[in-house]
Amino acid sequence: MYADIIVDLSVKSIDRPYTYRIPEDLESRVTAGTPVTVPFGKGGRVIKGFVIGVHDKASISDDRIKDIVQVCAKSNEIEEKMLMLAAWMKEQFGSTMNEAIKCCLPVKDKVENKSVSTISSAVSKEELQKAFEEAVAKKRTARARLYEALIGKGEIGRTYALKELKVTAAILRDEEEKGMIRVTTVDEIRGPYKDITERDLPPQLTPGQKEITESIKRDLYEGIRSDYLIFGETGSGKTEIYMDIISECIASGKQAIMLIPEISLTYQTVSRFIRRFGARVSIMNSRLSQGERFDQYMRAKNGEADIMIGPRSALFAPFERLGLIVIDEEHENSYRSESSPAYHAREVALKRASIEGASVILGSATPSLESYSMAKAGRLKLFKLVGRTGNAVHPDVCLVDMREELKKKNRTMFSYALREQIEDRLARKEQIMLFLNRRGYSTSVSCRECGSVIKCPHCDVTMTLHRDGRMICHYCGYSTARPTVCPTCGSRYIGTFGAGTQRIEEELAKVWPQARILRMDSDSVRRKGSMDECLKTFERGEADILLGTQMIVKGHDFPNVTLVGILLADLSLYSPDFRSGERTFELIAQASGRAGRGTKKGMVVIQTYDPDNYAVISAAKRDYEGFFEEEMAYRIAMGYPPAGIMLAINMSSETEDVLEGFAGRFAKEVEMLFDDVTRFKVIGPAKAPLYKIKDVYHMVIYVKSCDGKGLRAMGDVLRQKAVACSCEGVKVEYCFNN
Ligand code: ADP
Ligand code: ZN
Ligand code: ZN
Repeated sequence: MYADIIVDLSVKSIDRPYTYRIPEDLESRVTAGTPVTVPFGKGGRVIKGFVIGVHDKASISDDRIKDIVQVCAKSNEIEEKMLMLAAWMKEQFGSTMNEAIKCCLPVKDKVENKSVSTISSAVSKEELQKAFEEAVAKKRTARARLYEALIGKGEIGRTYALKELKVTAAILRDEEEKGMIRVTTVDEIRGPYKDITERDLPPQLTPGQKEITESIKRDLYEGIRSDYLIFGETGSGKTEIYMDIISECIASGKQAIMLIPEISLTYQTVSRFIRRFGARVSIMNSRLSQGERFDQYMRAKNGEADIMIGPRSALFAPFERLGLIVIDEEHENSYRSESSPAYHAREVALKRASIEGASVILGSATPSLESYSMAKAGRLKLFKLVGRTGNAVHPDVCLVDMREELKKKNRTMFSYALREQIEDRLARKEQIMLFLNRRGYSTSVSCRECGSVIKCPHCDVTMTLHRDGRMICHYCGYSTARPTVCPTCGSRYIGTFGAGTQRIEEELAKVWPQARILRMDSDSVRRKGSMDECLKTFERGEADILLGTQMIVKGHDFPNVTLVGILLADLSLYSPDFRSGERTFELIAQASGRAGRGTKKGMVVIQTYDPDNYAVISAAKRDYEGFFEEEMAYRIAMGYPPAGIMLAINMSSETEDVLEGFAGRFAKEVEMLFDDVTRFKVIGPAKAPLYKIKDVYHMVIYVKSCDGKGLRAMGDVLRQKAVACSCEGVKVEYCFNN
């Protein structure tokens, strides 16, 4: 018998299966998905690999085939279904098969079981009491302590006996042999949240929720496999819908995956699921130890859990009877993988579900353009969930034109309107959240008088200011000197936005010395311990103002917050990314959602230099549809996803001129390959948005096309070409639509 094996080396040139002979004694143990060790290369170094297929004939002559060394005992195997998914991911996202396999196997190595031993008495109460008295009399103090503890507690942990009672292992062994005590050892399942024992009953669903759950459940009963998008603002009751359908799903003997962005995987969120579903839930997140991850993963694999909750990687939970994948907050950027295979969880979920006959539910308050256009095209069934549960009301929204503030000689970060509101809340002892969008901060140049931003004339994206004072477009490489006057209105007030959270904190303290200010950004969180801690302080009312970046807008509920200030709403418009409008809309919508979560009416002040921008206006009006129409028109006009498909060829090297030389040569090859200009547009090479990271230089070539199949089909040819013109030390990676 022979096996096709993908060896564990992430080198593009060897990205193909190699044939090995299966020694007779291993035949029963080697199937598709088995991890094995094999000799590889000229030196015959033994490395790991995964079997992707087994057959009884080999296509090359027998004397050239080597034997599999061993089944790799310390590695997990990968399910055959997941191999299919990996094969698809390799094609779809242009990675190697090895990278795809590793991605589909989120817990690779086995971790030894953790066992716990408990000690109980093996004799009657009277005998134990007698033994205790004897031990005291004979001054056998360690034994006396042991008996005393057993009399008092009935049962004690072995670790407790050793560490706290200071009874030696030898004594315990002796006592066990004498038949005084009994030691029982069981494997402990490692994982968080074991302390949650209370259980919630599902609430009575509102008519709006019911309509959705019943429609989806009807499909499930009738065996109609379908995918859904639930569009409803934060707090509208989507999670209750997910839980209702998940419970239906597991009742019918299937299993479910619940994806939640890492940042929202808080104690509060996860415990809600555990209180509903108890021990049937398995958890994954980045804070778990290796042992915890392994145990949680194995519970899913062994069928001891029916629900896997986690971030992106939970998508690859090894369920055998998958019935449902839910992706909450599907618009979140953290669902996008940055490393190869550069996939988006949404795409992989839809594929995995279709392979395994499961359904996908996407949920969002601000659906991605991808999902909403799929819904409009009928690929997803769309449900809208309107209104909030409870009696909270929408906040008032006030849009402030910061150019007017400048005319009124106000050069601070706080408009007069915002100042007034802050005064008012401080006086009323209500809480305030101030939000600074840091994306693109201080790398773009804009005019404070007319609000225009320096954009690339060829790409319609914001140009980035570099240290040497030149402006560069990271899409096409176009560059120009930094202007000293605004090209639109001639004003001299042109420059970068340069206010970080720290400076704003200082300014706040100057204007309102009495206010208690809490700053939350990646620096302060690292310094003061956890983010949860900071949020709890605010929740307890120990601060008046919470100032922060992105991280404070996510889903936290503070009923006493009645004012949200977005200090610069349009900063994300200026980041060099075709999705910046979408991000701006999303951030304003979410930040606004933080105001007035309680019964008091809230207010949102949005400060902007660009009050005419459609993303800002439609977000202020809560007009998603309007935003979608405009944004989609822009994407169509520019051929950006989801209207077209975009391939990014990322090239990196430690040597700048080697990289430049390669990028130039390779771009020519790419141009030749995609010479059909009616279908493909090759852009670049250009420096990547992050040109130099840790002494490695990055350049990028983009290929835009409306013909996704045609573009992806070129993947293999492209890889060969890259190998052909490659030189030492240049790494090439492919990435679709990121
Ligand atoms: P979303 O997931 O859309 O943010 P949730 O499902 O978390 O919304 O609901 C917001 C709040 O309203 C939660 O505290 C939830 O327990 C409560 N809630 C949702 N639906 C109901 C219902 N039908 N009856 C009572 N409370 C509900
Ligand atoms: Zn201007
Ligand atoms: Zn450009």
